[in-house]
Amino acid sequence: MTTYREYHARSLSDPAGFWSEQAQLIDWHQPFSRALDNSNPPFTKWFVGGTTNLCHNAVDRHLATRADQSALIYVSTETNEEKTYTYRQLYREVNRMAGILQGLGVAPGDRVLIYMPMIPEAAFAMLACVRIGAIHSVVFGGFAAVSLATRIDDAQPKVIVSTDAGSRAGKPVAYKPLLDEAITLARFPPQKVLLVDRKLVPMQRVAERDVDYAALRATHMNDEVPCAWLESSEPSYILYTSGTTGKPKGVQRDTGGYAVALAASMRDIFCCAPGETYFSTSDIGWVVGHSYIVYGPLINGMATVMYEGLPIRPDGGIWWSIVEKYKVSTMFSSPTAIRVLKKQDPALLKKYDLSSLRLLFLAGEPLDESTARWISDGIGKPVVDNYWQTETGWPILGVSRGIEPLPSKFGSPGLPAAGYSVKLYNESTGEEITSPQQKGVVAIEGPLPPGCMTTVWRDDERFKRTYWTSVPNQRVYSTFDWGIRDEDGYFFILGRTDDVINVSGHRLGTREIEESLSSHPNVAEVAVVGVVDPLKGQVAMAFAILKDVTKADTHEKRLAHEGEMMKVVATQLGALARPARVHFVSALPKTRSGKLLRRSIQALAEGRDPGDLTTIEDPTALEQIKRAIHA
Ligand code: AMP
Repeated sequence: MTTYREYHARSLSDPAGFWSEQAQLIDWHQPFSRALDNSNPPFTKWFVGGTTNLCHNAVDRHLATRADQSALIYVSTETNEEKTYTYRQLYREVNRMAGILQGLGVAPGDRVLIYMPMIPEAAFAMLACVRIGAIHSVVFGGFAAVSLATRIDDAQPKVIVSTDAGSRAGKPVAYKPLLDEAITLARFPPQKVLLVDRKLVPMQRVAERDVDYAALRATHMNDEVPCAWLESSEPSYILYTSGTTGKPKGVQRDTGGYAVALAASMRDIFCCAPGETYFSTSDIGWVVGHSYIVYGPLINGMATVMYEGLPIRPDGGIWWSIVEKYKVSTMFSSPTAIRVLKKQDPALLKKYDLSSLRLLFLAGEPLDESTARWISDGIGKPVVDNYWQTETGWPILGVSRGIEPLPSKFGSPGLPAAGYSVKLYNESTGEEITSPQQKGVVAIEGPLPPGCMTTVWRDDERFKRTYWTSVPNQRVYSTFDWGIRDEDGYFFILGRTDDVINVSGHRLGTREIEESLSSHPNVAEVAVVGVVDPLKGQVAMAFAILKDVTKADTHEKRLAHEGEMMKVVATQLGALARPARVHFVSALPKTRSGKLLRRSIQALAEGRDPGDLTTIEDPTALEQIKRAIHA
């Protein structure tokens, strides 16, 4: 039997050979001529010359053997709907959607922006796009008008697919007014907006631009739209993620490499078999939703659960009732969601028959030991931490139980997955750290394995500059995370090296929140940092200098002003980005060269030592931060 270490070593010593074998897990229309072309790093190409299609691999190829098997299981505790689509039915719906998009003028290479809640039509739209060679860009439904407008302008979609409303805790959350506002703000408005009318709230339609999905579906009822055979490196989608500037990065994914990586990960890491049921509690607006709600499980011939609702409504047993009913074999969730469940009656964990469930995967943020133990003991199943990023599309670190049942260690996501050469480097010298238990920047030596981002959408320079030049004297991909490695090679992730924060497993750039707060007419200057939170992992905390201090010179006025500023962020960016607190100060700690000392502010906000302050310009600014926190 091959040990995992041998398996991983081969993936690095012979990447072309290793991945050529994995490539047999998917269908190719035309075989590739070269598995790996790394002649122009970091622009690695996988499976050169091969043509394939993500939708064919996720849907069409299963029709011969599993047409009547469940493919998409939609469960909404928001609208109390439940519907299962077989592979045959999914195929039909995707063809209709593909016909509609083509009818609206969408051609290969065009972008389609999908701004949708967790409803089946969102998945139909994603699959329809890749079917016809269009590039989808899903924007999380919780993002508000300004965030959406930024993404519209970067992706320049020909069509936007959206709906009247999402729903949260049984109450409709209107999408259409936000979408209309975003399109008004955007410099590159779409030609058409395709609207799925859920009839949750009334919609104002814009003549000529807005079209109705139900009406068009009826006219495209019998459409059969052939798959566009794309060269492996052609883009499948763009997914925006936050970085250290105010402008989100469009992570671009290829086609063939992504399909192969997902197929291999389903077998090696997630240990799933075709015909089983996968349930990821994420949202299609995030990378986990792309890889492990839509593409991964379907490519693997599984049924995938698409759940619209909260984990605690009608009660904290809802997920486990879904596991029982649909015989879920594999679950994927986040530590924050489990911490939410921890506040519920633990008897709910034992109420349902969970015998079908083998493993619960958790990712997106650090998994603390008490949360991991609580859920693992509660449901009586192993919990598997795994570490990755929007950029990589699938786990960098994990325990590949499908290859060898190696043990997990609490607090560690595990070992590098196949194809990843993960190393640690000294932040300032770039020297590689080889001794165990020493902290360094987690980086990956190129070539990145298949499935990882191929570039930043329309900005190759930014891809090189941001990711491949940040470790001094090395040409390696930086994850922007700190980590250590133990004597057995297990990695531990210690948080970000940059100004990105992680709220409930979701990534936010502090700069974006600062820019939003700065748009308030009374804000002169502002700093936003991430602060430890027992439930959400981190929350944003803001420190603002006001232009007119009389607007916040009493306790009541301060509270009102704080609320007003929080609202600015919620309306511009979305509720997720709303700072937990906005403190008012008259100076911010900066270096003499004018750089904000965010780490010192963060340390103070977390009750830690602010660190080396020899370069600080005005030490009283720190005193103010301290006073503001304790006021
Ligand atoms: P995102 O691109 O939104 O998925 O965020 C990726 C970031 O989340 C990583 O760079 C890490 O900072 C963090 N992260 C993801 N998974 C884990 C994990 N298992 N343990 C610790 N941090 C994680």
